[in-house]
Amino acid sequence: MSLYVILIGAQGAGKGLQAKLIQEHYGIPQLSTGDLFRAMRTRSDGLARKVQDIMASGQLVDDATTNAIVEDRLSQADARMGAILDGYPRNNIQAAFLESRLAQKGAGVNAVLLLELDLFTAFKRAFGRVSAADGASFNYYYNARGVDFAWVQDDQGLFPPRLEAALAGGGEALRRRPDDASADAIIKRIDTYLQETQPLIDYFESKGIVRRIDADQSIDAVWADIRRALDSA
Ligand code: AMP
Repeated sequence: MSLYVILIGAQGAGKGLQAKLIQEHYGIPQLSTGDLFRAMRTRSDGLARKVQDIMASGQLVDDATTNAIVEDRLSQADARMGAILDGYPRNNIQAAFLESRLAQKGAGVNAVLLLELDLFTAFKRAFGRVSAADGASFNYYYNARGVDFAWVQDDQGLFPPRLEAALAGGGEALRRRPDDASADAIIKRIDTYLQETQPLIDYFESKGIVRRIDADQSIDAVWADIRRALDSA
């Protein structure tokens, strides 16, 4: 039997991290449209540049481009028996596309996991997060131990101070996702989430497949709730 799971939640709700745990445990690949778009950064063609500009502004990439990238990923062998859709669908058009694509294979969406988090926390989780090359992640507001954070003033005073981070004691410089580095872009993403993605919840709710998960808990507690939800789906 196939297993298609959608993860919905504001940025910072822990979708990416939980998707990786689901992937390991249930053996289905994570399909993150955000990661697929970020991977285009190494390309210099017009489409790749357009996508990077849209991401930096916090808006959504157009549906045709997004659906095409999903179609391509879903047709790869490892996604034959299922996938964890992380950050997709984000609006009704994408949801309709996904459902018709799965219906062609005689499959459907088995569960929609809604990772619930208050929006102020969502903002701080995204704005404060930094990561090391080995994937370890830290947060200015929640998990700053072992990290030196610094607010760096813009020389000309044209931009707000920038948050920089490095492992304590002059260690590795830590990375922020470029689309997390601007408070404006994060607020825009929250706004887009409220306007375009939240209405999807009602739609999936009417099909009885939404499972609500409190995302304001430890990673382990969220993961335990997700396993319970998926095992009963
Ligand atoms: P994420 O990593 O899911 O927060 O996505 C980062 C950015 O990639 C978003 O702010 C959008 O610009 C773009 N993006 C990711 N997924 C989608 C999607 N399903 N539809 C449109 N744009 C997307």
